[in-house]
Amino acid sequence: MDPKIQIPDYEATPVASIPNICATVRATFSSNRTKDLEWRKIQLRKLYWALTDFTPKLVAALKKDLNKSEYEAYLTEIDWVKNDCTYLLKHLDSYAKDSKIGSPELSIAFAPTRMRYRKEPLGATLIIGTYNYPVMLLLAPFTGAIAAGCTAVLKPSESAPATAMAIKEMIEDRLDNSAFTVVNGMVGETGALLNEKWDKIFYTGGASVAKIIAKKAAETLTPVTLELGGQNPAFVTRHANVKLAARRMLWSKALNAGQVCLSQNYVLAEKPIVDDLVKAFNEAFEDFFPNGAKDSELVHVINERHFLRLKNMLDKTKGKIVMGGKMDQSTLFMEPTAVLVDSPEDITVQEESFGPIFAILPVDNLAQAIEIANEVYRTPLASFSFGSKEDHQTVLGHTTSGGTTLNDSFSHASFSNVSFGGVGESGMGSYRGKASFDCFTHQRVVADVPSWMEPFLRVRYMPYKWGELKR
Ligand code: NAD
Repeated sequence: MDPKIQIPDYEATPVASIPNICATVRATFSSNRTKDLEWRKIQLRKLYWALTDFTPKLVAALKKDLNKSEYEAYLTEIDWVKNDCTYLLKHLDSYAKDSKIGSPELSIAFAPTRMRYRKEPLGATLIIGTYNYPVMLLLAPFTGAIAAGCTAVLKPSESAPATAMAIKEMIEDRLDNSAFTVVNGMVGETGALLNEKWDKIFYTGGASVAKIIAKKAAETLTPVTLELGGQNPAFVTRHANVKLAARRMLWSKALNAGQVCLSQNYVLAEKPIVDDLVKAFNEAFEDFFPNGAKDSELVHVINERHFLRLKNMLDKTKGKIVMGGKMDQSTLFMEPTAVLVDSPEDITVQEESFGPIFAILPVDNLAQAIEIANEVYRTPLASFSFGSKEDHQTVLGHTTSGGTTLNDSFSHASFSNVSFGGVGESGMGSYRGKASFDCFTHQRVVADVPSWMEPFLRVRYMPYKWGELKR
């Protein structure tokens, strides 16, 4: 760990011990123990019960790191991962068994060949998490690694240090530590981890670090899954139910104080409905925070660096704050804040807020909104469409994103059985549901060619005879 940076009660894993830790999980994978289905199920159950037993510690840590309420801690962190455990436990037998492939087509000679996909764990994996959902975004992919039969080293975000320590204690206390372990630390420790050979690296976080990780992985041709950033547009047309749109979008900026990779970064609203939309946002705000946001269960910004980054956006914007705007640096409190802007060049549109701030940009029509969105960021993680069915079709047909929700905020990424991931610059690969299992699995094709087929295979052997080649 950088000796200049000291985080109270946070203990980095000694860099010198990292090669040994990695060698242990690699040796465990090589022992074949983790391939046993019953063993995997036991580990998933152990994780489930560990989360249950460690709930008070995790809730307290999340409160300390993010001022996260117990309600959000359950809903979006602890129960989220427990649901992924139960989902994978329920489906593991069917995911893990060989799947048949039909007989080879277009080849009569090979028709009796029996083909199948064998599901094999990739091996020793590294999972790097981020700070906004420090439990969920580290342990949800981890459930996929366990289910697939991989071993794993987990690297929680140091920006949520109390949670990182609680997770380390929980994993070390409850899981098989020769297969699963936690390394804490910052750039030095992560660098040491990246110097090791992995069979898969799973990273959630910002694009600049993703490039470092992808470059490092390329040196050893290690596959990566990258779950990256937002820049998510919301389209609101004159056909939208404006009150509903405002309420649902405010929810995604109030939840976790908008520190959600999926929440809208900017709203492209048709001019005739902008006033109503602003009014509706303020009404929803009153509804959510009857005693003011300060006296609510609103999560705080993770740290001073991010608080100042967000404050800087408000200092630099040429727009007008039309909802919220109050903040307190001493407690890192910041209200959900809407800024009415008149240009797509505004900092609130161009930069990912990853916090409670979002822009509202009036547009002439949906075509202009789509043009702006494609110009600002062609491949966002998510997009949202509030309007008529035709409007939805236009948005879907002329834009792309990791996922899209129609008439709501990020419902498309809220369920254990649905895969989640980005596209282009918002990420590569996906997980959750079956995708979590597939993410850590190699589908090995196996062809079984019976010996009695030999007479049919005459056609492939020399000396070739045209007369024997049947078409
Ligand atoms: P962060 O600061 O928590 O960093 C993420 C991880 O990268 C941490 O574990 C950290 O230790 C590691 N890291 C930092 N610097 C490193 C370096 N030089 N080398 C190696 N590892 C390093 O979080 P962040 O990067 O600020 O994350 C915010 C971004 O993540 C936003 O863009 C957000 O949209 C995105 N995000 C994406 C998802 C998703 O699922 N797609 C979820 C949450 C956040």
